Amino acid sequence: MTDHLKVSVLGADGRMGRAVISALSETAGVKLAAALTHSESADLGKDSVALADAKGEPVVLTDDMMEARKGDVIIDFSAPKASLTVAEAIKNSGVKAIVSGTTGMSADQTEVFHKTCAGLVLLQSGNFSLGVNMLEALVELAANKLREGWDIDVLEMHHRHKVDAPSGTALMLGRAAAKGRNVELESVQKLSREGQTGARPEGEIGFATLRGGGVIGEHSVTIASELEMLTLSHSAFDRSVFAKGAVSAAIWAAKQAPGRYDMKDMLGL
Ligand code: NAP
Repeated sequence: MTDHLKVSVLGADGRMGRAVISALSETAGVKLAAALTHSESADLGKDSVALADAKGEPVVLTDDMMEARKGDVIIDFSAPKASLTVAEAIKNSGVKAIVSGTTGMSADQTEVFHKTCAGLVLLQSGNFSLGVNMLEALVELAANKLREGWDIDVLEMHHRHKVDAPSGTALMLGRAAAKGRNVELESVQKLSREGQTGARPEGEIGFATLRGGGVIGEHSVTIASELEMLTLSHSAFDRSVFAKGAVSAAIWAAKQAPGRYDMKDMLGL
């Protein structure tokens, strides 16, 4: 019998966690090892596989983060605090990699997360779809070629339940634009606008956020001059696109040397 890659899922009863459990059940060579959630979740003790409407042996939802050690890899779509707790819980265990899609980490939280994950493979991405990672490459190129007199803004829309803004993907795209312009995003970003904003400064990278309904993820980057506008955009039709990308990333991450990676490394972009 071939050895399966064992995967623990953090945020297992969330929208993405359920999609990941479903994607795992449809992927050969991988096995759900543990399903972790919040200590106040109403789903504690329930079968995560049934909850995800997936096929396979039952795996009961637990809030014991030490259970994450049952996996070779952890797939994390949860919340910044949970990502930090699980990283601490698996220190010096046999876990090889964390694949994290959790967004909304502050700079301080990111620093602690990276330090705690030293010695592991950490693959972190604000978006696990091939299309968005291609978009990121295109945005960097366009921002690099279209400079003086060209204004860049990133617009995103997500479902009404999303708790952070701008989205991790919008920030990824903003960072790609900043890279194309050879500047740090933090030095040129305008995360939202209201009131007497004054004229738009040259070189600013702006963000605008829409929230509503069940929208999975819409992103567009506009690059506008006085005479024309280029719009690069991406639509996700189903969150399984991120879940399947994260499962492929987990399989890839398990074979890498310790270090920090993103989807562009995996996709060779
Ligand atoms: P969600 O439905 O709210 O799921 C989050 C899950 O994490 C829930 O099960 C939640 O439990 C659990 N959780 C929250 N705090 C926790 C804690 N302290 N300890 C343990 N578990 C905790 O959200 P979602 O839509 O699945 O999104 C989850 C994350 O993934 C967000 O950061 C989102 O932005 C990100 N995301 C990333 C991508 C990507 O491609 N990178 C795509 C989609 C979403 P409770 O419900 O009980 O709080």
